[in-house]
Amino acid sequence: MSSTRKRVLVTGGAGFLGSHLCERLIADGHDVLCVDNYFTGRKDNVAPLLSCPQFEALRHDVCFPLYVEVDEIYNLACPASPVHYQHDPVQTTKTSVSGAINMLGLAKRLRAKIFQASTSEVYGDPTVHPQTEDYRGNVNPIGPRACYDEGKRCAETLFFDYYRQHKLRIRVARIFNTYGPRMHPNDGRVVSNFIVQALKGESITIYGDGKQTRAFCYVDDLIEGFIRLMAAPDDLTGPVNLGNPVETTVGELATKIVALVGSRSKIEYRPLPVDDPTQRCPNITQARTRLGWEPRVPLETGLKNTIAFFDRLLTENGTKTEAAKRIA
Ligand code: NAD
Ligand code: UDP
Repeated sequence: MSSTRKRVLVTGGAGFLGSHLCERLIADGHDVLCVDNYFTGRKDNVAPLLSCPQFEALRHDVCFPLYVEVDEIYNLACPASPVHYQHDPVQTTKTSVSGAINMLGLAKRLRAKIFQASTSEVYGDPTVHPQTEDYRGNVNPIGPRACYDEGKRCAETLFFDYYRQHKLRIRVARIFNTYGPRMHPNDGRVVSNFIVQALKGESITIYGDGKQTRAFCYVDDLIEGFIRLMAAPDDLTGPVNLGNPVETTVGELATKIVALVGSRSKIEYRPLPVDDPTQRCPNITQARTRLGWEPRVPLETGLKNTIAFFDRLLTENGTKTEAAKRIA
């Protein structure tokens, strides 16, 4: 047991990032309360933790008040993939905004430290490159991505108003595209889509010409950034960019994944979704200098781990993957 054992609430704890965070917090000796409504999260993600006495899972929607006793809160509840957050856009905004109000209210009552999983989407389709935290963004407030982008922007506003008005201890991380094991196979995000398509030998669906860029961070690196930001001195409120500053085009990502899987998949070009950002890459100077943090896992290593995860998942579900076909 850690000498600084804390009771930590993780909202969205059964999701991709949340489940990795719960695992890390338990490994660090804390008690974890995982709160999730299972909209995009899965019980499977936290199943290995259920037998652990330090872990507790609670089905709850953060749009409703929550009365629990904890020392720290990580607020991750919100669908993150464009397909999922656009499925019920009104609910997405409610989750970000009402969820933030409820969790901030809880933090205020408990005088607990609270962390917000914000996003690079607050920069919209950026006109400044790479993005620094002082860039105010270029978001279309009425487009299909606005439910997520504006919801997250409003959540940041609420965090900073609680900080100024109620002297709450806040931490705001702006997370850039992160990938790894336990991503949802059908969430439509580029890494999971391309890997699943390559493993099944299906066409790789590139939206637009594939020249748009993203910077991909491996999940373990990101979680280390969360822990460091939460533990930082209270004057470090953020927002702090957390992401891997290695920019890659979507086309290059497709080629890399096809090669790593050894797949025969062909490329299929599809229309670019509305308001899809053309270029995205974080400037992580703040995280480097204030947190001593930077990503360590190279894209190829992270992709191999993620491919192995999806290969197992698909095989368990009865799909004969490219790897299985090669072995057969
Ligand atoms: P995810 O969809 O796997 O996880 C989100 C979790 O929140 C799920 O378990 C879902 O069931 C839960 N949830 C959704 N609405 C809820 C509600 N109303 N009440 C309770 N639980 C609810 O996505 P993720 O990639 O793990 O993202 C986690 C957080 O990080 C999100 O807030 C997301 O906006 C942020 N983020 C992620 C990325 C990324 O690349 N993964 C990038 C930027 C920001
Ligand atoms: N993308 C793609 N094919 C896919 C899924 C996504 O070309 O099958 C593109 C998408 O248009 C975007 C980039 O990949 O330009 C990243 O998309 P993702 O949904 O993963 O994240 P976000 O757009 O939120 O960064």
